[in-house]
Order: sequence, then structure tokens, then C-alpha cells
Amino acid sequence: MSARKILVVEDETAIRDMLVFNLGRAGYEVLGAGTAQEARSAIVNCQPDVILMDWMLPDISGLELTRQLKREPETREIPVIMVTARGQEDDRVAGLEGGADDYITKPFSSRELQARIRALLRRTTPAHDATVRVGELALDSASHRVTIKGEEIALGPTEYRLLSFFLHNSERVYSRSQILDRVWGGNVYVEERTVDVHIRRLRKALSKHGHDKLIQTVRGAGYRFSSAGM
Ligand code: CA
Repeated sequence: MSARKILVVEDETAIRDMLVFNLGRAGYEVLGAGTAQEARSAIVNCQPDVILMDWMLPDISGLELTRQLKREPETREIPVIMVTARGQEDDRVAGLEGGADDYITKPFSSRELQARIRALLRRTTPAHDATVRVGELALDSASHRVTIKGEEIALGPTEYRLLSFFLHNSERVYSRSQILDRVWGGNVYVEERTVDVHIRRLRKALSKHGHDKLIQTVRGAGYRFSSAGM
């Protein structure tokens, strides 16, 4: 099995570097993010197995980011450990109510952190490993494979994420900006027409297997994935 991925969201560079270094030495693949915005991009691009989330971040709080992640189907299953500098009971409760799966209070030892991560990985049977099926189309997020009637279809990484989003959110219309937010992670530097380009590629891949009507253009509104087109 490949190394489990941990995303360290922490704006203080010295602390982040130390955590990245220590967890890397412990055998994890570690990514760092200094803002909520960077964290969102890293989550979309790298699909971490655990997120270590600092409470105090410069853009939005770690608590608010956790709330957002736990509301969205694509990120809801990723376990979050909230890091708080304050040890008050109120913060712990707020963190857990906000959707964090565990919390740890600064300062903590590397050993304590690793024990928490191991425990969390053990108890969170990753539901995001499950296969999502719509009709004869299946997406297996453990192996990153998409099949139609058992036959694998080749997709680029963005088309894969787009399809994964649609499979989790079928039968509803999404605007280009909503799709950008959810699939690209709200990166403001991506133009809306980028969505059209990737939708076109995804449609092309699906149409090779006779499914050219799964993704519907809803004029003036956006796109909808519907199994009615199957
Ligand atoms: Ca901080």
C-alpha cells in the first residue's frame, strides 16, 4: 500500500515545516498549506487521507473550513484533526461540532500527534474508497478507475474529478462557478470557460462508450448530470 497522505494546514511556516518534516520521517506523504485557499487546492489535487487543521488561519478559520469540507460530498469523508492553541473545553466542543473528527492542543509532541493520526486512520473506514455507480457507469475512488459495463475508460485527472463530482451530485443543475468552486477548489484564477473545455473532454470520453447525453447543458444555468441520459 502506498503512503497515506496528510495535509498540514498551518500558516506559521516554522511549525508547518516541522510538522511536514516529522510526519514525512514517520513514513507519511505530507503536503503543506498556509491558507484555507491553498488547502482547498491541495485537497482537490492530492486527496489527502487526513487533514491536520490549524484553528487560526489568515483567510478563514480552520473551523469554518472544516465546516465547509464536511458539508461537501467530495470532502466529507476526509478525517480532520483540529489543532487548537487554546485548551478550553468550549473550543474542543466547537471544533467537534464543526465536524472535526479529533482535536489536539498545542503544544503537542510528534509522538502524540502520530498516535492520534494512526487511531483516526484506523477508525475511519474510508467511505470514499467505495465505488459510486450510476447505471452501468462505475467510479472507484480507491483505484481511480472509471468503467462502463466493466470496460475501463481513460480520463485525465480533471475529467476524473469532474465526473466524480457529477456522480455524487447527479440530477441537479450547477453553474460554471459552482462547478469551479467544487471541482477546482474555488481557485479564482481559473476562467469559467475552463469548465466548458473539461466538460467537452469528459463528454467525448463518455460518448466513445455510447453515453453522450449523460451531461446535459442547461441553457443560461450550467450543467446537469442525469442518469436519464443513459
Ligand atoms: Ca495558525
